[in-house]
Amino acid sequence: MTRERPSSSEELVQRDRRHLWHPYTQHGIEADPLPILRAEGAFLHLTDGRRLIDGISSWWSILHGHGHPVLIEAMQEQARELDHVLFAGATHQPAVALAEELLDVAPGKLSRVFYSDNGSTAVEVALKMVLHSWIHASEPQRRVFIALEGSYHGDTFGAMSVGDPDPFFDPYRPFLFEAKRIRPDDEALDAALDELGDRVAGVIVEPLVQGAAGMRIHPASFLRHLRARCDQRDLPLIADEVMTGFGRTGSLFACQRAEIAPDLLCIAKGLTGGVLPLAATLTTERMFEAFLHDRRSRFFPHGHTWTANPIGCAVARASLRLTLENDVPRRFEEIGQRLHRTLETAGDDVDELRHIGGICALDLHTPPEDRAGYLSELAPRIRRNAIEKGVLLRPLGNVLYAIPPACIEDGDVDRLAETMLALIPKT
Ligand SMILES: *Cc1c(COP(=O)(O)O)cnc(C)c1O
Repeated sequence: MTRERPSSSEELVQRDRRHLWHPYTQHGIEADPLPILRAEGAFLHLTDGRRLIDGISSWWSILHGHGHPVLIEAMQEQARELDHVLFAGATHQPAVALAEELLDVAPGKLSRVFYSDNGSTAVEVALKMVLHSWIHASEPQRRVFIALEGSYHGDTFGAMSVGDPDPFFDPYRPFLFEAKRIRPDDEALDAALDELGDRVAGVIVEPLVQGAAGMRIHPASFLRHLRARCDQRDLPLIADEVMTGFGRTGSLFACQRAEIAPDLLCIAKGLTGGVLPLAATLTTERMFEAFLHDRRSRFFPHGHTWTANPIGCAVARASLRLTLENDVPRRFEEIGQRLHRTLETAGDDVDELRHIGGICALDLHTPPEDRAGYLSELAPRIRRNAIEKGVLLRPLGNVLYAIPPACIEDGDVDRLAETMLALIPKT
């Protein structure tokens, strides 16, 4: 049975409320969802005629802007040619060409691409490759990952295990495998490596910027120290660039800005320009060879229905071409600096202002009762006020941040920054 198209925004929202369950949403208290009609460039258009700047690139994914004609063209052309086919025992040109093109621009000496369909799965694949390769190497006791405090690597069980359980994943704690969480600090890393000894499986980081932690930035020198220690101890380093990839930090990949090369690189969000679900885990020939054998049982037992979806791959190729042709990393750098210049005028009204590439974030003063941070009323209140002022923002606890798409015009960057300024409570 097909239903009628809703006749009004109210009806759409009403019908949504009856049957939908939204991500990271407390339906007991949260306001109605925004009824989105369409999107174009840096703007979301609501069914009631309002227009909002997409200040957070629709969860850090939209890279070039919404409805980019080049991406739509690539999508349509590929859909007509080959929509989908299984990737076990079959291959196709979009998957092969994209893999080659990604390896050409990725940091370090990565030579293998394993496709999946979202950031969490890209991380799961990396974790499973590392753990399984230690079993193949007859060191099955290497089961503990070192990760950063506040880290976020996705919502599936492996990804949650290396993420910081505080505050979201706390109820799942008994079900998560062991990980050692450290501050991004040379001494803390050395101490953890010494403490865990031959139980360490590897290290996973969001290089340079920890997104969900509140756009927290750590120094490149820490990553270089980490790389050196992993080399010394022959440990694999996983870079989760699901958020930082494709120019967000002002380099194509954050690892390149930090001058390090990972052994596994997880990418998703911006891979297709943010418009289709596709992810990849890039790794070394050495990792691939750990699974090469004449016994079938030594293979990597992992795969998803939509592994290497041809339409996703075709759009990702078009997006990568746009990223390089338009020098998107440099555009993000300009955007970040422009946001920073306006937000600097907040002075002592904020605790800290920081930016890297196209990401600009500030810490709001929080009254003691708002210390709950992520689960407090502060963020939803600011989000509602931002929408009233024509901007979609979604603070992380007391961290107000912007990460707009590269197509945003300077005037709209200024509007975005001025709206953020207006949202900062005065002290
Ligand atoms: C968003 C994100 C993920 C999870 O990606 P999904 O596609 O939402 O599963 C993993 N790691 C980082 C750093 C992210 O920002």
